[in-house]
Amino acid sequence: MALFNKILIANRGEIALRIQRTCFELGIATVAVHSSADTEAMAVHFADESVCIGPAPSSESYLNMRALISAAKITGADAIHPGYGFLSENADFAEMVEAHGLCFIGPRREHIETMGDKIAAKATVLEMGLQTVPGSNGSVKSAADAKRIADDIGYPVLIKAASGGGGRGMKVVSAATAMEENFALCRQESLSAFGSDEVYIEKYLPAPRHIEVQVCGDGEGGAQHFWERDCSLQRRHQKVVEEAPSPALNEALRKKICEQARDCTAKLRYRGAGTFEFLYQDGVFYFIEMNTRIQVEHPVSESICNVDLIAEQIRIAAGEKRDWSKPPTISGHAMELRINAEHAETFAPSPGRIENYHAPGGLGLRVDSALYRGYVVPPYYDSMIAKLIVHAPDRDLCLARAMRAVHEYAIEGVETNLALHKRILSAKDFRKGDYTIHWLEKVLLGR
Ligand code: ADP
Repeated sequence: MALFNKILIANRGEIALRIQRTCFELGIATVAVHSSADTEAMAVHFADESVCIGPAPSSESYLNMRALISAAKITGADAIHPGYGFLSENADFAEMVEAHGLCFIGPRREHIETMGDKIAAKATVLEMGLQTVPGSNGSVKSAADAKRIADDIGYPVLIKAASGGGGRGMKVVSAATAMEENFALCRQESLSAFGSDEVYIEKYLPAPRHIEVQVCGDGEGGAQHFWERDCSLQRRHQKVVEEAPSPALNEALRKKICEQARDCTAKLRYRGAGTFEFLYQDGVFYFIEMNTRIQVEHPVSESICNVDLIAEQIRIAAGEKRDWSKPPTISGHAMELRINAEHAETFAPSPGRIENYHAPGGLGLRVDSALYRGYVVPPYYDSMIAKLIVHAPDRDLCLARAMRAVHEYAIEGVETNLALHKRILSAKDFRKGDYTIHWLEKVLLGR
């Protein structure tokens, strides 16, 4: 069965290129869309066709639904892949795409809506037998209610935006005296960033690991998991290094959580790729949210499972039958290092022209990046410019390979966090696999 003839990729940067690469291998033509700031992007160069969809600000280009649909119609694309970020978790967009007779490579509207709302998602998985972080069971309307709940579960607590994402829209509150101010702030920030002031409360876990399970569903109750990823190495609730398998889990725990996530995917009759995110502490997995899209860190799962998750997404969307009779065999260990164009000390974005560029290579290395010498990193978008993915037969060799790769990598013209990665890879705790979500900030950076 033919999959698709032509896919429009509604994204930019490394993920646009990543999707293109799979399309090429599957014999599917691609349409790149770009803002006027991205005319020189690598994905535009390699696409079969490209369409400028608007000026630099994403609100007028990559988030412009009408421009995207028009571009798909004009070029005769039959499907749209949204990548991650931008419109990938926008239920209206998914519906609009389908209403125009195009295929949305992602979940159905209902799942984006339910699982994209963190409160509704928690309620849904609770019913299916997963555990969630203790807190308000639903949204919290006033600071007085918030105080009552916090007194009940004990400080510190976290106020979270129901529609938050990207590590934003969260406030830690350590004592009742700080509740009123933080509650108002969180609502306000949530409204301006996500268009909703709905917030809820969770107990702030002191030393958890962030463990997530990659799943795929066929929309009819068929589902598979692709094991877990450990994304505990974070700064400001944003992932910096991800690895798989998690050094914190034994085989039994790994199997248990991955099977639970797979079974939820099946029960939901979920379609497409998704991720169940958990905080793991003292032997307990607490569900925090589900992402209804491909994630930045998907390559670590691809490495250990020897699978192309973008191809899985495309095949599922095209209705191709999947053989998910048993989970993939885990092969070795993988890590992903997120390379950002940012100042080493302040972490402020550092856009600019790439004066010199040399990517590492060799056994077990994969560089997902849209950089080249002479490329200008625009100031308008995310500061992540490359992902270094390392695969090896075991974790020790993976660490050695990662260090070797970071030493080989040359990116000149913009500041990067390559030096930070060297520090992380040299740190004793990290080498032992002994770190929580707070380790990078509190221990390594001492902040
Ligand atoms: P986002 O959608 O913004 O990524 P998440 O709910 O996935 O938000 O949480 C992002 C990160 O915030 C987690 O990986 C973890 O580091 C931290 N976090 C979230 N909930 C809690 C909690 N209850 N206690 C401690 N840290 C938390």
